[in-house]
Amino acid sequence: MLTQCLGIPHISTGDMLRDLIRHGAELKPCVAAKMHSGGLVSDEVVNLMVKERLSEPDAGKGFVLDGYPRTLTQSEHLCGWLDEQGIREVVIHLAVDYNIIIARLTGRRECPRCGTLYNVSFHPPKVDDVCDLDGEQLVIRDDDRESVIRERLDAYDRQTRPVLEFYQTAGRRVIQVDASNDPPDLVFHKIKLALQ
Ligand SMILES: [Zn+2]
Repeated sequence: MLTQCLGIPHISTGDMLRDLIRHGAELKPCVAAKMHSGGLVSDEVVNLMVKERLSEPDAGKGFVLDGYPRTLTQSEHLCGWLDEQGIREVVIHLAVDYNIIIARLTGRRECPRCGTLYNVSFHPPKVDDVCDLDGEQLVIRDDDRESVIRERLDAYDRQTRPVLEFYQTAGRRVIQVDASNDPPDLVFHKIKLALQ
């Protein structure tokens, strides 16, 4: 919604890494070489990949970064680079209460036959645990089990919350948007108001 409204590209490091694995070395030789030598996708690789992407012409008017920066090292690198380029960023922090995240995700049910997603609290099937469309028994995906979700929230606390604190203490622009209970279009509206 934001990229459509502003007419700027959406740059997702997750998409870029998947692309890189698919198309291999011919697109980004230096990044691919690092990935092959190290195995793990280090901060250095991601930083380099993003810097190359941000230097492409379509990013000249601005861009929305998604999934980056995710660590302190990445944040420091990005801030340094943006300052060098004279680009001022805005960090948008979508705040959602952990209990609400857990309720949303643990309530998800999927139809193994047609893939339709339900939520026992927010979008329940007509009959408990049965798909409206084909009558198949609904299942909980492994990703949505509470222990897995808690692990992901712990990882967020360890790695990503310090990124937010870094931006706040460095006096960079951080917009807080409460995204706990509102549908996406309303969250988007709040972001737009804050940006204006
Ligand atoms: Zn179904």
